[in-house]
Amino acid sequence: MSYKLHIEEEGNCLECGTAISGRRDKRFCSLSCKNKYNNRAQMVKRQLRAQTIAALTGNYAILEALLKEGKTGAGLEELTELGFDPAYVTGHRRGHFRHDEYACFDIWYYRTDTRIFHLRRKAADQP
Ligand SMILES: [Zn+2]
Repeated sequence: MSYKLHIEEEGNCLECGTAISGRRDKRFCSLSCKNKYNNRAQMVKRQLRAQTIAALTGNYAILEALLKEGKTGAGLEELTELGFDPAYVTGHRRGHFRHDEYACFDIWYYRTDTRIFHLRRKAADQP
C-alpha cells in the first residue's frame, strides 16, 4: 500500500534564507530571489566553461609550439612547467598501440605517466 502525505512544511529561501511556508517544493521566497539564485548558477556555469576553454587554449598553444619546433614528444614534467594541464583533452582513445591516445582539437598524442609522444595533427575521424 502506498500513499502520499501532504504536509505543509516550513523551509528557507535558497537565496536569502527567509523562512517560507506553503508547498513543500517551494524553494524561494520571491521571484526576485529565484532570479538572483538562477543567475548566479548560470554565471558559475559560464565561468567553468570559460576556464575549461582557457585551459584547452593554453594546452593547444604549447602543443602547437612543439610541432613548430619539429618535436613529436616531451616530458610531462617539462610540459606542466610550461602550463600544460593533461587533465584537459577534447578526445581520447583507449589503448591504441598499447598507450592511450589523447587529442587537443586536431593535435593528437599518446600519453604515458611521464611523457607524451607521437605528437601530430590529424582530424578526429582519421585512424
Ligand atoms: Zn528570498
